[in-house]
Amino acid sequence: MIEIVILGSGGSIPSLGRNHPSIVVRHTGWNLMFDCGEDTQRQFERAGLGQNKKMAIFITHTHADHLLGLGGLLLRFSLLGRIRPLDIYGPAELIEYVKVNQKTINLGTTFKTTVYGIKSGTLFESDHLAVRAFEVDHRGLAFGYEVSYQRPTGEFLPEKAKSLDVPEGPLWGKLSDGESIALDDGREIRSEEVTGPRPHPLKIVYTGDTRPCDSLRRAAESADILISEAMYTSDHSDLAEERGHMTASSAAELAKEANVKLLVLTHYSPRYETGGPILDEARAIFPDAVLAEDFMRIILNPDGTYRVLHPDHTI
Ligand SMILES: [Zn+2]
Ligand SMILES: [Zn+2]
Repeated sequence: MIEIVILGSGGSIPSLGRNHPSIVVRHTGWNLMFDCGEDTQRQFERAGLGQNKKMAIFITHTHADHLLGLGGLLLRFSLLGRIRPLDIYGPAELIEYVKVNQKTINLGTTFKTTVYGIKSGTLFESDHLAVRAFEVDHRGLAFGYEVSYQRPTGEFLPEKAKSLDVPEGPLWGKLSDGESIALDDGREIRSEEVTGPRPHPLKIVYTGDTRPCDSLRRAAESADILISEAMYTSDHSDLAEERGHMTASSAAELAKEANVKLLVLTHYSPRYETGGPILDEARAIFPDAVLAEDFMRIILNPDGTYRVLHPDHTI
């Protein structure tokens, strides 16, 4: 199961209920963070994500609303004694930005921090997870990110296991987890012999800030979840064009063309604080759309089904 936690769904100015952009994708002990707007450290704490987990941070572009939380988050992790290394990916200016922070505000870290200036392509691969960056159309160099999860095996087929005389029990579990096993009679049974065809990888796409563009359309093709900025409604499409953003309808049209399963609308302007007009406009085109809220969680199951868990507003 993959868990997506929305830490910030706000626009360029945070409001009382919505912080600057940040999203965390969690699986097998990893916290993969996408964008780190101001005060993400407290959102991270409130969401209970665990400061010493395996972690990588991916910044979409160097606009302040996506980035200013980085120093605070690193400081927090240091004060709490993090020891695991932390890799940070984003446009090359990020390397200088972190260096200047380290020099001028004494931001030493208790753990190894490596910052990578990136180009489009695969950046990260571990535990069946991969992250790929693709360039999008914003003001200056900006990336979207595609997270894919390669399911280790297809469906376990008990009849096949029985026909090969594999005794029911823990060995079945190993085979269904993709491992090979050795039987007492010396035979080796591979997982592929007792499982169905491996399904396509699960895919989550995060747009960052962008205009609708072909690279995003290609990345979003058949995505399980598309998390898209939707800064404006279409009556402000002139502003969207001028400032390099999407409208709710352009996000919905793209989701429809790309045949995604679920569209999550985020980074909407504080002028639509409740998000109602954004959601209505998107759903008129693409009904499987939800509004991101801070602390919303989305569970993506290995079979591709999902559940949206709305936040407990008492937090
Ligand atoms: Zn932004
Ligand atoms: Zn921006």
